[in-house]
Amino acid sequence: MGALSSKLRNVAGGGLTFWCAGCREAHTVWTGQGPGPRWTWNGDVERPVFGPSVLVRTGHYADGKSPADCFICQEHRAHPDDDHGSWRCTICHTYVGCNGAQPGEIIYLSDCTHDLAGKVIPLPDMPQYRERDCGAEGGT
Ligand SMILES: [Zn+2]
Repeated sequence: MGALSSKLRNVAGGGLTFWCAGCREAHTVWTGQGPGPRWTWNGDVERPVFGPSVLVRTGHYADGKSPADCFICQEHRAHPDDDHGSWRCTICHTYVGCNGAQPGEIIYLSDCTHDLAGKVIPLPDMPQYRERDCGAEGGT
C-alpha cells in the first residue's frame, strides 16, 4: 500500500483507501477491472470522486441478525464501560465527491449510525499511523 496523496492510498488490485472520520477507520473502494464490486474514480488523488455510493456495514447490520441476537451488541450491553474500539455494529453510507458533495468532499447519508450522518466534510488526511501500518515510507 502506498500514498497517492495525503488523502488516498492505493492497494494492490485497484483499491483506493481513504480515512473515514465518522468510523475513525479506513474504507477502501475498488476501481478498474477485477472481482467484486467496482467503483468509478475521476483519477484525482487530491479531490477524488467515486461512484456509486460507499456502503460499509459491520456487525448485525452486515449479517442480518437482530440486535438481541447479535454477539457484538450482547458484549456491549454486558460491558458498557469497556472500550470496544472499532468492534461495533455500524452503517456508514457515503458519497465521495458527488451527489451533494464537491470533489474532495464526503457526504454522509442519513442512514449512517455515527455522528456524521447528514454532514458534508472535506475528505480528511490519512492519519500518520496508517503510514506506519503500511511500512512503505521506511522506519524511524
Ligand atoms: Zn465510515
